Amino acid sequence: MTPLEFDRHHLWHPYTNVTQPGPTFLVREAEGVWLTLDDGTRLIDAMSSWWSAIHGHRHPAITAALHAQIDRLAHVMFGGLTHDPAVDLGRKLLDLAPSDMQRIFYCDSGSVAVEVALKMAVQYQHAAGRPERTEFATIRSGYHGDTWKAMSVCDPVTGMHHLFKGALSIQHFAPRPPIPFGAEWEDDPAWNGLGDLRALLETEAGRIAALILEPVVQGAGGMYFYHPEYLNAARTLCDAHGILLIFDEIATGFGRTGQLFATGHTRVQPDILCLGKAITGGTMSFAATMTSDKVAETIGAGTPGVFMHGPTFMANPLACAAAGASLGLLQQGDWRAQTAAIEAQMRAALAPARDLPGVRDVRVLGAIGVIEMDHPVSADAAHAQCRELGVFLRPFGHNIYAMPPYVTGPEDLDRICAAMLRLAETL
Ligand SMILES: *Cc1c(COP(=O)(O)O)cnc(C)c1O
Repeated sequence: MTPLEFDRHHLWHPYTNVTQPGPTFLVREAEGVWLTLDDGTRLIDAMSSWWSAIHGHRHPAITAALHAQIDRLAHVMFGGLTHDPAVDLGRKLLDLAPSDMQRIFYCDSGSVAVEVALKMAVQYQHAAGRPERTEFATIRSGYHGDTWKAMSVCDPVTGMHHLFKGALSIQHFAPRPPIPFGAEWEDDPAWNGLGDLRALLETEAGRIAALILEPVVQGAGGMYFYHPEYLNAARTLCDAHGILLIFDEIATGFGRTGQLFATGHTRVQPDILCLGKAITGGTMSFAATMTSDKVAETIGAGTPGVFMHGPTFMANPLACAAAGASLGLLQQGDWRAQTAAIEAQMRAALAPARDLPGVRDVRVLGAIGVIEMDHPVSADAAHAQCRELGVFLRPFGHNIYAMPPYVTGPEDLDRICAAMLRLAETL
């Protein structure tokens, strides 16, 4: 069997039909924005490999950090032991993240970071004398990961809740914030979505530990951008009802929306912050859940006092070293000009898509460009065109979108935008 034949027969791919898997590319190498396939074909990775490779593939600083670390210490348990890469990364996270976020829990993946955040909220409420608060509120069209509890706060329709009925915890959903990013804010709670959120939180407050949201940009639940004013008001509502506010910035964190964190678009901070995806610059699975001194100290003062979570590979030194190098690159600050330039160029280059038949909306924020169609688009059909386009794109739902590496130059970005337009014309 060739590698591709073996893959087809034995390897499961994400959200893919085993019997009809669709086109799959064999990647031999990656550098910068480029993926090199087995036959030498080169494709631009317009997805940053699921939004993670923000500095491009094999950035020399991250590669060097990994080489240096593996020659010293690949892994050691984090119970009773610590190491420099964990401490160095912690310092950088404190430097970059919203100032209230002072305590860091390292996790294996984004979904685990969400699980940890939800458990923190429940343990906080328990320690604060409200043990009956074990449920969660969220908004529709969100995405928070694929593990059970994370899945329960994903959009019930796109998250296929009916499939897992009975196995999923019931959560509380408010409608998606109706006012888009960039539109004029409307103070009337009947129009801005806050009437619904307030009614939900008022009715269910006695059961709700936390409200979890992707701030400003909803990613895998539909690539929708909403007005940050919603978040400022959500903060006030949560405070009024003793509900913690969790921001899931696994997709939006580390510069993707043109701010270092999407909280940069708001006046408020969360109680708990989930980070992942771009944290290691796209090299390996890793994530972090950050929280305030208040939440951490309340949990510490309750019973059993300890936070009940501790993965085997917690704070893996290799992942910490890669993340430390990736955050070091962010600290140099080039991301700001890079994402601003990408935003300006995508705005101009994608605008013509508005006039194409079948296009419902075109939107750009930071280094995110979306062409939303009025019909579902097939990733397989897109992949069938990738070689010819020279660009790797993987649409989902109604959306043809790109989240290119921040280092993508103008010519490569033109090629990405042209490929998106072509897909909008043909899919
Ligand atoms: C991708 C994502 C997750 C899940 O992260 P994994 O590393 O895939 O488990 C959670 N929340 C958001 C907002 C994401 O985009």
